[in-house]
Amino acid sequence: MRKQIAAANWKMNCTLEQANELIDGLLKEKISVTHDREVVLAVPFPYLMLAKEKIKNTGGFKIAAQNCYTKTSGAFTGEVSATMLQSIGLDYVIIGHSERREIFGETNAMLAQKVDVCLAAGLAPIFCCGEPLSIREKETQNNFVEIQLKESLFHLKPEQIKNFVIAYEPIWAIGTGKTATSAQAQDMQAFIRRTIANKYGDAIADSISILYGGSVKANNATEIFGKPDVDGGLVGGASLVLAEFVSIIKSLK
Ligand code: PEP
Repeated sequence: MRKQIAAANWKMNCTLEQANELIDGLLKEKISVTHDREVVLAVPFPYLMLAKEKIKNTGGFKIAAQNCYTKTSGAFTGEVSATMLQSIGLDYVIIGHSERREIFGETNAMLAQKVDVCLAAGLAPIFCCGEPLSIREKETQNNFVEIQLKESLFHLKPEQIKNFVIAYEPIWAIGTGKTATSAQAQDMQAFIRRTIANKYGDAIADSISILYGGSVKANNATEIFGKPDVDGGLVGGASLVLAEFVSIIKSLK
């Protein structure tokens, strides 16, 4: 079975004290994370080392950064490179979250560069894609997401894309409390898998975990994760509430 993943995207939230409490609370739950499941915590940069240290003897927990820069080092004040993230032992980096695209103007071309620096450093990207409401209303979401995949990922060799996690996050469902129906998530995620299969073949497409993100909560996770092409979730708001996130983890297939 493909890896089933519950990924927490804390965004720019939590003080150090809150970060400690949240991770300790999660670890106290002693959730059994078997070999084909993972819990990923994408915490803000200042807490990455702390999070890494806390999870070090727990199988199945992984730490992700929420972003990295397109270059490996140099005069880029305020930026963080994939090489630095690799050097502290991280596993994943979220690339192309819609907030990065919309607030910070990250383009598909820029994200292709970020994907390249992550892979060169040995980090697996969690690549986000998804359409805004205006596109969904025109029913052109498949074409929109296909362009995102083609322009940021399809320059990769098959052995590079094999390590990927993709997160489909319709922008109209992020932080809005408005969730895509499980059927909408399944339709798009099957489309994403077919698009990858057309370029890289069925074996690679079948091995890629595709997460759904957009107002996943304890009360809708089982229904959404139950769909065949949904391999777990990228969770924002609900990942900051211990009981909610624990329940979401337990909803993985
Ligand atoms: C996200 O940040 O990726 C996200 C899906 O947020 P939320 O779960 O709050 O909609």
